[in-house]
This record gives sequence, structure tokens and C-alpha cells, in this order.
Amino acid sequence: MSSRILTIAVDFDGTIVEHRYPEIGEILPEAFEVLRELQENGHRLILWTLRDGIDLESAVNFCLDNGIIFYAVNHSKPDEEFNKYISRKIDVDYFIDDRNIGGFMGWDKIRELLIPDSPNIKKVTDETSTTQPQKKKRNFLFGKKS
Ligand SMILES: [Mg+2]
Repeated sequence: MSSRILTIAVDFDGTIVEHRYPEIGEILPEAFEVLRELQENGHRLILWTLRDGIDLESAVNFCLDNGIIFYAVNHSKPDEEFNKYISRKIDVDYFIDDRNIGGFMGWDKIRELLIPDSPNIKKVTDETSTTQPQKKKRNFLFGKKS
């Protein structure tokens, strides 16, 4: 997997940083370390976020300050323009997003999967895992517990 150049869409809020939109939350453990490693390995990173306008600009600049230059932002390619006949779905190999079904796996696990020969892979134990614990959610199909 590591020899092929990958195009990877990365969400911002809840994925790179804790979800504090429109503020910028704390950086999630290892987020920029893994993103920089992916970038250094030649992979293309696309910021894939609902942010727009000045909030989007803040996120892009925040990532730039942390050494990440996105190949494109909310597009498949840097120069892509949209019209109503072009799909808004972007063309990537992988999506990294805290809204994945099953929850966010954490950056350590992402490194293991996408950079299997990384010297920075740690033996992940329960104590060192950066996987976000799942919040207990109300079951919206069946309503609140009475
Ligand atoms: Mg998110």
C-alpha cells in the first residue's frame, strides 16, 4: 500500500482537531504527525470539510502552520470547478472522517493502515490508544429512556 501514491480526503472538525466549530479545537493526538508523514511519503491530501468562507480559510491556514499543504480543498483537483452537472463527490482512495460508521479509529491506527512501514508505529495498547471513546448516544429511533 505504501508504494502507491494515494489521494486521501481528510475531514477537519472532530478529525484533525476536536470539534469546536467555528472555533478550532485542540489538535487530536498524532494528527499532524501522521498527516506530515503521509505528505512526506508523497500522498495527496485533500481537506474535505463543511467549513466555508473565513472558517475554511482559518482551517487551511491552521494546517499550513502545522506543515500541511493540501493538494486541493473540497475538490478532487486544485483547479476543478463545479457546475450542477458535475458530481460533488470527490474522487479519492480513502476518506478519514470522524463520521465514519463505527467511529473514528484514531491517528495511530490510520498510520498503521496507510504507512505500514512507518518507523513511528507504536505498539498500541489500551492505555496508549488515541482512538476516541464513543460517546453514549441517545437511541433516536426508540426515544429516550424513561
Ligand atoms: Mg467531522
